[in-house]
Amino acid sequence: MKAAVLEEFTKPLNVTDVPDPTLTDDGAIIEVKACGICRSDWHGWKGEWTGFLAPLPMIGGHEMSGIVKEVGKNVKKVKVGDRVIVPFTCGDGTCQACLEGDSNVCEHQTMPGFTYNGGFAEYAHVPTADFNLIPLPDEVDFSQASGMGCRFMTAYHGVLSVGDVRPGDWVSVYGAGGVGLSAIQIATAAGANVIAVDIAQDKLDFAKKMGAVHTVNSMETDPVEAIKDYTHGGADVSVDALGINATLLASLNSTKRKGRAVQIGMTPMGKDGDIPIAVNDIIANEVAYLGSFGMPRAEFPALLNQVATGKLRPGDLVTAETNLSGIVDVYHDMDTFKVNGVTVITDFTK
Ligand SMILES: [Zn+2]
Ligand SMILES: [Zn+2]
Repeated sequence: MKAAVLEEFTKPLNVTDVPDPTLTDDGAIIEVKACGICRSDWHGWKGEWTGFLAPLPMIGGHEMSGIVKEVGKNVKKVKVGDRVIVPFTCGDGTCQACLEGDSNVCEHQTMPGFTYNGGFAEYAHVPTADFNLIPLPDEVDFSQASGMGCRFMTAYHGVLSVGDVRPGDWVSVYGAGGVGLSAIQIATAAGANVIAVDIAQDKLDFAKKMGAVHTVNSMETDPVEAIKDYTHGGADVSVDALGINATLLASLNSTKRKGRAVQIGMTPMGKDGDIPIAVNDIIANEVAYLGSFGMPRAEFPALLNQVATGKLRPGDLVTAETNLSGIVDVYHDMDTFKVNGVTVITDFTK
């Protein structure tokens, strides 16, 4: 099969023929129909997440959807020909977290494109298929499904389950990249008033299209002051969708007393990712600082129902389609934060 192989960090991926994946008894092989390109892939390509990434060579891509081509002999529910989406946080289906419905924090978590070969290829093997493959409603096409990628599902869980956003809430979102734009659309659909913060005007324009009622260009305006002004005291929920020092601290400071700060954007791995926060302010204002990671499989049916009926529109985030050779161009655009919206691979032949 054709695949885009990461052989050396920061170097162009090698688009080449590699052996097809090997089927396991509990796994399934899917024909990948679409796979989103994500900033997390870029972190992997830069060599920043080596503690986490399987040894090279590696096939990236964790935002895949496709058609089941083969299933292992122990697989009971998933059938050949099923249209499926793969959560980027795969679970073992047997640990305490998985049994309690929290597969996104599985004790033995695996991730396509990081811990095993992912969707930058014609075919991919997914372990524990009955647990990890999610049926895709007929109304949701593959490009839209992969636009849901990690960003939309991550934002859905972060905004609604962890952030507990309610109608009428003020929600600030830092970073109008893929996950930030998703959070804006999802919070808006839930009836919240969203304020988007970014440094790029084109991203803020996109944020408006996703439903933001106000936008703040943090190159020109202090975002914390602007949010406190708009909300008369602070956001009910603030989301940091980026994970750099400035956005993490500003997001935390944008919440009202008793507000909730949801951290979705990951900081760099290791010590570089440890950011000092004002603990006493968190205590005095009883702010809840909440980590949010991926989305458990249990939340997929509710999300997919809303996508199938058009109430949520992950496809709106897809701004371009490309082939395997186009991935590195997207990575180079990510180097300079030039990317607007999401690029999805839909051609796996070259
Ligand atoms: Zn588990
Ligand atoms: Zn992703």
